[in-house]
Amino acid sequence: MTWQIRSRSLKPEDLLVEESLFSLANGYLGVRGNLEEGSLYESIQGTYINAFHDVVEIPYGEKLYGFPETQQKLANVIDAQSIQLFFGDEEEPYSPFQGEVVHYERILHLDKGYSERMIHWRSPKGKEVKIRFIRLVSFEKRELFSVFVEIIPINFFGKVKVISHVNGDVTNYVNGKDPRVGNSHAKLLNTKICKTVDDYLVVINETMRTKIQVGCVTTHRWEAGQQSVETNGQTVTITNIFQLRKSTVFEKRNVYVDTLRHGQNLFETGVSLQERWKHVTMDQLLTEQQEYVEKFWNHADVKIYGDDKVQEGIRFNLYHLLQSAGRDAISNIAAKGLSGEGYEGHYFWDTEIYMIPVFLLTKPELAKQLLMYRYSILDGARKHAKIMGHQKGALFPWRTISGSECSSYFPSGSAQYHISADIAYSFVQYYLATGDEAFFEMYGAELLFETARLWLDTGHFSEDGFRIDAVTGPDEYTCIVNNNYYTNVMAKYNLQWATNVYDQLDKKGTEHFTRIKKKLNLKKEERDAWERAAKAMYLPYDEKLKINPQDDAFLKKEKWDFSATPKENYPLLLHYHPLTIYRYQVCKQADTVLAHFLLEDEQSMETIRHSYHYYEKITTHDSSLSTCIFSIMAAKIGEMDKAYHYFTETARLDLDNTHKNTKDGLHLANMGGTWMAIVFGFAGLRIKQSGLHFHPRLPEKWAGYECNLQFRSRELTIKVDQERTEISMKGEPLQLFVFQRPYLVKEGEPLTIRTTGK
Ligand code: BGC
Repeated sequence: MTWQIRSRSLKPEDLLVEESLFSLANGYLGVRGNLEEGSLYESIQGTYINAFHDVVEIPYGEKLYGFPETQQKLANVIDAQSIQLFFGDEEEPYSPFQGEVVHYERILHLDKGYSERMIHWRSPKGKEVKIRFIRLVSFEKRELFSVFVEIIPINFFGKVKVISHVNGDVTNYVNGKDPRVGNSHAKLLNTKICKTVDDYLVVINETMRTKIQVGCVTTHRWEAGQQSVETNGQTVTITNIFQLRKSTVFEKRNVYVDTLRHGQNLFETGVSLQERWKHVTMDQLLTEQQEYVEKFWNHADVKIYGDDKVQEGIRFNLYHLLQSAGRDAISNIAAKGLSGEGYEGHYFWDTEIYMIPVFLLTKPELAKQLLMYRYSILDGARKHAKIMGHQKGALFPWRTISGSECSSYFPSGSAQYHISADIAYSFVQYYLATGDEAFFEMYGAELLFETARLWLDTGHFSEDGFRIDAVTGPDEYTCIVNNNYYTNVMAKYNLQWATNVYDQLDKKGTEHFTRIKKKLNLKKEERDAWERAAKAMYLPYDEKLKINPQDDAFLKKEKWDFSATPKENYPLLLHYHPLTIYRYQVCKQADTVLAHFLLEDEQSMETIRHSYHYYEKITTHDSSLSTCIFSIMAAKIGEMDKAYHYFTETARLDLDNTHKNTKDGLHLANMGGTWMAIVFGFAGLRIKQSGLHFHPRLPEKWAGYECNLQFRSRELTIKVDQERTEISMKGEPLQLFVFQRPYLVKEGEPLTIRTTGK
């Protein structure tokens, strides 16, 4: 059962959340799980194309120098979800909110790649039918979104009228009360073309400002009936009337194209794709979808023995990650994937720190694609650095789609310089996990050099060492600080690796290196300065508490009074002015604790343990990026009950809507975090220069777990139970480390070790 997400609810509050939970996507196209027949209640009707956005003004009361003037906003595009059914000569409309629902169920098939809704319905006048909607957003045919409708007569045989719309009159969702959702510019698109040509319904929309276009070309494959079409300039509607004598199935097949990817002739391209796939049947579509998904699971599935609730959570989360990842160089993974409009479709550091790790070890070609996107906006990052006053280097925007900064509140936006080091870190991790030297040297090197330059320009040498002042770390409840431990230690790593790559390329003396040096006007003195800055990097440490303070001033602040904070005041960001929050020791999310996970060799176990305990007491986890990291680090320090507790919060965060905003979209970083909590937390995996390191542990509640990993062209399987850990491998022999001891693992000779490590 853990391969299916099921719901039988038609309650208004569940329906809204289920629009996100049951959303379907393929990295290019995403469709929320709206009801084909429409809802009586509040609904966020949504269809999105990754990176398809308009640019809108950012309204400021006081606009200071360097504030971005505009921002990108993911557009809700043409809506092709709607299909209405009417029964009998009196045309009784089908609606699950009228008449009697004998049975209702919705299922998301994680192992097959589609969703379905089944309803057994009796109309107010007693007509009884069963209706099944199956929807699929194809992984193999990225432009394709199909809906299959099956009508099974129970006591009703007679006239059925189907009305199907393709609607260009769409708006984005806005909510002035929640800063995590857009608050203006609901209408982003105008309809340019709305017509029928032969059997095709065609709508083409254009963004108001950027003038990019999206098109939807739709066909219906159904029993011949009495058909008519109608357009009103924004919506095309087709009606078909036929006699229901026995079960019947029809398909609404929609092809989406856009001028960012398909050239200017959207109508022709859409039609030619429809023609190309004309002979592909519903069964073939479902089969090829299943094959694609099966391949993914072969590499990515994680099995948990003895805990179905979290098993369901982890599969659900991984499935949505697969659905959300952009597969071309202009798109990435939005904070909410393609499931909703929260954070306006922007890409954050979430991708590099919480999502790429999953793909890196399960589907590395996708991780590479995501990194290519970052490389493709390197120029944007150079421009951004200039705007922010830097002479040299690249500062990646805190949130963006096409490469320029979209953050209007700089203290917890542009000031999060760490994103540049996070991206650099991710390139290094990719290199270490795949050994793909060519990619690393071709794209990673330039990016590492430019980000290293940023650190040198931002920081300065002082008595304490190399300091980085006035930045914000990951914790958004503490802004604009000096020497954020996380930022400094990540910058150090960035500088070290820039130096390493410089030396590596210098040794090889390739033409490519000569080209980069010329392009960047890069000199050996700069490389030496990076090395010096890395060596001198100031990492705050408190002797008394034996922890790394989050920043220079953090420990001097008063602690937040949690006992006087009512439950309903969380998340704090919705109930207190930012300044109130900034004055206290209170964290929204893992910050120093995250640094201790990413770069554990920088500190002793004692410092890591003390820091964990210190920050745990003052962290609200108001950000969904937090509990997974606390789970990983609780496992590291051997506190398995806590690790398990945080893990369960992570695994079902969206399924149980624990952050109460799943309606605005899924929490993709947390979804990656679930996998990380198993692989990096319980299995204790780290990717280092010396290779793979494991430290397997098991929560008491589980009988065991199992996961698969790809590493340097090898396939590894790790099985952990209360007694033993078994690591088997396909491919060339590999040296790896378990509980810090080296082992050589060979194909056909699994390594078996006691799980406790004692
Ligand atoms: C978190 C950030 C995160 C953003 C998008 C915020 O609530 O504090 O760390 O990047 O959400 O997911």
